[in-house]
Amino acid sequence: MPKLDEKVQDLYDQVVARNPGEVEFHQAVREVFDSLGPVLAKHPHYAEAEVIARLCEPERQIIFRVPWTDDAGRVRINRGFRVEFNSALGPFKGGLRFHPSVYLGVVKFLGFEQIFKNALTGLPIGGGKGGSDFDPKGRSDAEVMRFCQSFMTELYRHIGEYTDVPAGDTGVGGREIGYLFGQYKRITNRYESGVLTGKGLAWGGSQVRTEATGYGVVFFVLEMLAAKGEALDGKRVVVSGSGNVAVHAIEKAQQLGGRVIACSDSSGYVVDDAGIDLELLKDVKGGRRGRIADYARERGSARVVTAGNIWDVPTDVAIPCATQNELNGTDAERLIANGCRVVAEGANMPCTPEAIRALTGAGVGFAPGKAANAGGVATSALEMQQNASRDSWTFDHTERRLSVIMRSIHDTCLTTADEYGRPGDYVVGANIAGFTHVADAMLA
Ligand code: GLU
Repeated sequence: MPKLDEKVQDLYDQVVARNPGEVEFHQAVREVFDSLGPVLAKHPHYAEAEVIARLCEPERQIIFRVPWTDDAGRVRINRGFRVEFNSALGPFKGGLRFHPSVYLGVVKFLGFEQIFKNALTGLPIGGGKGGSDFDPKGRSDAEVMRFCQSFMTELYRHIGEYTDVPAGDTGVGGREIGYLFGQYKRITNRYESGVLTGKGLAWGGSQVRTEATGYGVVFFVLEMLAAKGEALDGKRVVVSGSGNVAVHAIEKAQQLGGRVIACSDSSGYVVDDAGIDLELLKDVKGGRRGRIADYARERGSARVVTAGNIWDVPTDVAIPCATQNELNGTDAERLIANGCRVVAEGANMPCTPEAIRALTGAGVGFAPGKAANAGGVATSALEMQQNASRDSWTFDHTERRLSVIMRSIHDTCLTTADEYGRPGDYVVGANIAGFTHVADAMLA
């Protein structure tokens, strides 16, 4: 690992000591700290005001019991979380993740990243995150509904359109947001559209919100390629995952001429040299909530690999959209050896620090999630704008706004990287631009 500036090392040691065992949180903090040396050298007042130490301590952390009854009538208990990390720029904003891997360390890593991501959008949103260790896999609609209602029965008292505005993340999509919003409305007797984003189009949702994270990553990739004098047209693209982010990254990459040849789920990956059939993929993974092997079974040009690694597939563009730490140093070396040009994180922190070092060291364009996948939360902020003005915009207008925001984030990263003597380094650019924006607001 590269050495940290002495002051920052001290702060990092304190974060580790104060938050024992939260390894994902430590990793996310470390990744930001690695970029901060030049800012502190140029602007010592940040260190004097202890703004970094303040940033690492959430404003508020809520942990609660979520009891619910399964279809067999048995009582089940899960743990719910909401970490309200930073409200310097606006109400806490960030998704809810329902997945068995969720514990405080995961929620804090996501919430910490969210602060800088949201700052980079230039929109007035603070950072937060929540979720539960509830596993929606294999659960009936009725079970998911009862879980969501119970979850909201505690969460409602902590959120609000001016306080904290949750949305979806892994395991939380339109169905769950509907159950959560219904329960909030019933308990509070308020039709407060702006309390959640990712709502249905018929009841306060925004056009493009469902597509936004995936579309936004591809808009970002276009800019990265353009900065190298290249285009997406005809390039091979590999997208890991097959959830909401992956599906819409595939959709936009295909619309813009990319050849998407592989995607995956937790049971394996498929390679389809004819290009992923998006309608079939949406039907298998979305409509039927099935497995990726079903896709290969129904598609002659595809093969499924269950005991392999999707990053073995040679590609020009790699877009990891599955989960944290899914692409390690060895995977990065393989991508480099196979001629990969650009890696953009659709998921949050899918690349390990070793992978990032290998990619950037080899001159592969690398965009961190807090920049590349910010389109989702940015469109959530556009949904809040529409809710506040009781308006609803067209698909085309909203998509244009999203593409302008993604270009602006891209340009901010590069300009900031240049300013601090690290041309082309999107990690340094994103971390410093996000940090200074929030830090200035906190100090003010
Ligand atoms: N969960 C998404 C993210 O990681 C979106 C959050 C939101 O829309 O509030 O940024």
